Amino acid sequence: MDIHKAFHMKGGVGDNSYSKNSSLQKRVAERLKHITAWAIEEVFMSEKPKSLGMADLGCSSGPNALSNIKQVVEAVEKASRRMREAPPEFRVYLNDLHSNDFNTIFQGLPDLYRDLKRGGTNQPPLYIAACPGTFYGRLFPDHSLHFVYSSNSLHWLSTVPAGIYEKEGRSMNRKSIYISERSPPVVRKAYLEQFQHDFSLFLKSRSQELIRGGRMLLILLGRTLSDHAHCANSFLWELLYQSLAHLVAQGEIEEEKLESYDVHFYAPSKAELEDEVRKEGSFKTEMVEMVEMRDEDVSGSAVAKAVRSIQESMLAHHFGFGEPIFDKLFHHYALLIDREFAQRHVKSTTALLLLTKL
Ligand code: SAH
Repeated sequence: MDIHKAFHMKGGVGDNSYSKNSSLQKRVAERLKHITAWAIEEVFMSEKPKSLGMADLGCSSGPNALSNIKQVVEAVEKASRRMREAPPEFRVYLNDLHSNDFNTIFQGLPDLYRDLKRGGTNQPPLYIAACPGTFYGRLFPDHSLHFVYSSNSLHWLSTVPAGIYEKEGRSMNRKSIYISERSPPVVRKAYLEQFQHDFSLFLKSRSQELIRGGRMLLILLGRTLSDHAHCANSFLWELLYQSLAHLVAQGEIEEEKLESYDVHFYAPSKAELEDEVRKEGSFKTEMVEMVEMRDEDVSGSAVAKAVRSIQESMLAHHFGFGEPIFDKLFHHYALLIDREFAQRHVKSTTALLLLTKL
């Protein structure tokens, strides 16, 4: 299966869309927004470009892409006022896979322009373009960018690792959909190797596109424990596996179908991220942090809806589910998450990586 064709967040603005269910991701970006502002200000102050090129990689189709642009433009405007410099013109490239619903972003642009005008007296020219394609490869011309931003996207691998399949094509991870306590060591190794391959290709591609001194801020799900099975982000996959197993028990799906489902996701540790940056060699690490977050007010059904908007395309592709089964699956999933939240204090781990192009 070509993941780059099949995978997309649920488009539009309906109840189950990413647009309506991405507030958890927004909270992450909001909490780290002082770092985003600081990073872009530093680039502006050191390079003083007349035309500032920036890209949001994996922007998806919700309102988050526009709030990221707003944050960046406002931070640069503030810095330019402080330095008594004219603000630059902005070239903003929104990237996601080809099947992404870019139209929902475009429809929000008039409001963004209006908000920016209202906030500043000196609204700089802002040229926004969509740039579809995979970020595991080249997207932009040589040295055309000053700032690369990516939030909640780089934990998606380019593919389910080929190393988890036996010669006959059967998954060796039959009793889970991600790395769990039941996964054989070869599965962990295959996921790590896929992450290393993908992330180094990502770094290499961006190193050609950024100017020297350009910065890149990457925010993605990560893990603090060396063991995947016990890290907070894995429990969501474990509970999704249990919810799918519940459908098997009810005769809604065949066991074999579930055994062959695996996700193209990886939550790296701090050391795994640092190792790839060092090996690739084009970037200096300015900051690397693993931030633990827990929102007490988030319900199981809110998390279930967020995961549904993210996973629906892949589940539909593999299992051929229609709306009623999705409703059933995610209703059960929400119950399991609520039960887990009631029993223990689950925190999710976000990795933050700030790099400068050497
Ligand atoms: N940045 C947004 C959206 C995150 S959702 C936010 O913080 O809310 C993750 C997005 O990454 C999805 O839209 C998905 O399509 C995109 N994505 C995943 N793999 C990608 C790849 N290889 N190239 C480009 N985009 C990718």
